[in-house]
Amino acid sequence: MKSFTTRSLNIPYPKKDPHNALAMPIYESVAFDFASAEDIAANFRGEFPAHTYSRTSNPTVEYFETKVKSLTGAHQVLALSSGMAAISATFLAICKQGDNIISSNHLFGHTLALLEQSLSAYGLETRFVDTSNTELVEALIDSNTRAIYFETVTNPQLEIADIAKLADIANKHGILLIADSTVTPPSVFHSKILGVHIEVMSATKFISGGATSVGGLIVDNGLYKWGNNPNCLEFSKKFGKDAFIARLRKNYYRNMGMPMTAHTANYMIAGLDILELRVERCYKNCLKLSEFFQQNPKVTRVDYPGLKDSPYYDLAVSQFGGVPGTVMTFDLESQEECFRFMNQLKIIRRATNLNDNKSLIIHPYSTIYAEFPETERLKMGIRPTMMRLSVGIEGAEDLIDDMEQALK
Ligand SMILES: *Cc1c(COP(=O)(O)O)cnc(C)c1O
Repeated sequence: MKSFTTRSLNIPYPKKDPHNALAMPIYESVAFDFASAEDIAANFRGEFPAHTYSRTSNPTVEYFETKVKSLTGAHQVLALSSGMAAISATFLAICKQGDNIISSNHLFGHTLALLEQSLSAYGLETRFVDTSNTELVEALIDSNTRAIYFETVTNPQLEIADIAKLADIANKHGILLIADSTVTPPSVFHSKILGVHIEVMSATKFISGGATSVGGLIVDNGLYKWGNNPNCLEFSKKFGKDAFIARLRKNYYRNMGMPMTAHTANYMIAGLDILELRVERCYKNCLKLSEFFQQNPKVTRVDYPGLKDSPYYDLAVSQFGGVPGTVMTFDLESQEECFRFMNQLKIIRRATNLNDNKSLIIHPYSTIYAEFPETERLKMGIRPTMMRLSVGIEGAEDLIDDMEQALK
């Protein structure tokens, strides 16, 4: 198979461009014209596929979806206004009041808040568990369980679950396996091969690359029998393999207003074409920085699952080709030392985002997790001595020089 980048650059438009434009035009138009009353009536009956209104679909967004679909080999792909829109629409489309989801206990903060605060108010229960222990996961499944949900690499703990084992359990019980793969983008992670049914991701991070725009993706690998989910059963009779995306598009994406805009899709398309290059560069930088940290006596601990001495190294190799994202953590003696260090940095920026082209550093204990009591934070592996570094595409030597002067 040709390389990710070659394929990304050569995916045909869904419709031929009248001017043979090499870059997909940005269709910044809300509505689309029909040649006849019969055509528009047929479209509304679902018998004449065409764009009608940009809250339901848009040509530039469709091209972004087409690219992701082709690159991942997925059955269906939907682009949404944010990663959180992708995650919330997915839960809404597969659950109703009284259902439950089994989720990893280490989650992106807003996903945790979505489950614990937003969706619990509508009667959705979440059972949190250590997803690296598959026996514990299986013990929580009952007849109202609709899915197992996990993140491919948890952040900032940087833990990795055994995906094939989770897929086995999900398949045994006829429930969904849903992965948030934001930190392991499609150039390194092939969710379909590992048996993930649905992949959700924040395209805001690695795919947008330059941190230019907020967006999300839902990838349906086409591996799940939708008749097994009581909430998708009706749709599966009419739409078969398309039941999930059809239900989600209509009842949530359209009715709740979650579309990606054409301008955002344009940024995402550009980001996707150079994704593989950026990931490779970030990964090389990540390894060089971790070597530097391991040799520096002031650094008391370094965590990156791409390192051979990491307990997750084998899973990082088998599941992500050895590139388990490009976020690492490292520790200094004290919180004061961390703050002093961060304030001395000249190239590396202090910010909360991930997978920007720029390297970004944050002290999670005093920021992202500050609202949790100390005992909770420690239980989640958030140490006052730890910093999270999202490694960018700068020159490795420049990053190391910056670290070196700030550690002095
Ligand atoms: C950022 C992030 C999200 C949310 O994505 P948005 O695009 O900011 O809505 C979800 N999951 C993970 C792992 C993230 O890092």
